Amino acid sequence: MEYQQTVAATTIISGQALHSGKMVTMQISPQPENTGVVFQRLDLPGRPSIKADVRAVVNTERNTTIGKDGWKISTIEHLMATFHGLGIDNVLVGIDGEELPVGDGSARFFAEEILKTGLITQNAPRQYTVVKEPLWVEGVVYKQDIPAKATLLILPSDRFEVSFTFTSDHKVTGTQYYHFEASPDNFMKEIAPARTVGFLQEIEYLRSQGLALGGDLDCVVVVGDDGYQNELRFPEEIVRHKILDIMGDLYLVGPLRGHVIAIRSGHKLDWELAKKIAMQQAPKDISRF
Ligand SMILES: [Zn+2]
Repeated sequence: MEYQQTVAATTIISGQALHSGKMVTMQISPQPENTGVVFQRLDLPGRPSIKADVRAVVNTERNTTIGKDGWKISTIEHLMATFHGLGIDNVLVGIDGEELPVGDGSARFFAEEILKTGLITQNAPRQYTVVKEPLWVEGVVYKQDIPAKATLLILPSDRFEVSFTFTSDHKVTGTQYYHFEASPDNFMKEIAPARTVGFLQEIEYLRSQGLALGGDLDCVVVVGDDGYQNELRFPEEIVRHKILDIMGDLYLVGPLRGHVIAIRSGHKLDWELAKKIAMQQAPKDISRF
């Protein structure tokens, strides 16, 4: 039997936020069994907090944002993927701003910082969300204004695994495929280091809109017209990062057993699938969706 885990001590991470470019500090602290992942705004009166589950999501445009009553915390997905990948069940994340620090654009920096103090095994068994029958969602993604169908499904499995197909006719990236079978070791080796990816044209557009202000060549893989503008960590870093995002977004339902098959999906579809998974487990609790 596997038992729940929390962090051994508080880890403090400061850094720039990806989209706003602001400096923020977050504190990742231990929590008792069956708490789940809770986020808290330390800079607001009353220090409001919210559990990271499917009901907390308020935006899935370019990142995953949770919130309540007008306050929010954005870009939670890479930290959530870190918790999912390392098997951290119970934790409190306090932050003094509305967007998490970008770290190195992947989950590796967060994971390494957390592992410096280590994890503690708790007394309660881990509660897995087990997918009972196939569930799927479909949508449309736009690449340079051209629509393409995106599909995300999950099949029953005795473990957590993700098969992702990233399709592109961009001559630099091409189409990429990767299959990941989850374990903490595999996560640290195969997925955690894969960074956020941006296409040069898109980054210039985002900056004109006041977004992606904290992204530089250290934390974003930049795809130029004729080649990558920085060193890759993996030949298929893009598709590995897409798996990282899915791991973060699906951790909104907690520890999960199922085989995810994704074609071109992003945060919006991830959340829609997470809602369907939650509905399958506890229809009454999630019925307002
Ligand atoms: Zn991401």
